[in-house]
Amino acid sequence: MSKPRAYCSDDYAGLEFDGGSFYYGYEHSICTTCGKKTGSGTEYCEIDEHEDREWCFVADIEGTPEIVIPMSKLGIGSDMFDVNHCLMIGIGWVLTKYKPEIKKALDE
Ligand SMILES: [Zn+2]
Repeated sequence: MSKPRAYCSDDYAGLEFDGGSFYYGYEHSICTTCGKKTGSGTEYCEIDEHEDREWCFVADIEGTPEIVIPMSKLGIGSDMFDVNHCLMIGIGWVLTKYKPEIKKALDE
């Protein structure tokens, strides 16, 4: 089992661990108009050419569908650049929602 690795910069933060990762930042953003994921590094939505994007929290856990939570749904106000805070709240939501599964795994 390798050690978890945490990283952050001005516009992203993440945590990698055996079997998955958590990420928050600009590399995963959605269009604020249509809600579709915008391509990494693109300036406009490919569908409606809308310019405003919203950064997302992403949980990528092996063997499960990707969990994506837009910043506005994290419920922490409007500072999208507070990347470590957004990352931690996202992890908190994952634990809140999936705690029974973790407990089940620990009981086995
Ligand atoms: Zn769009």
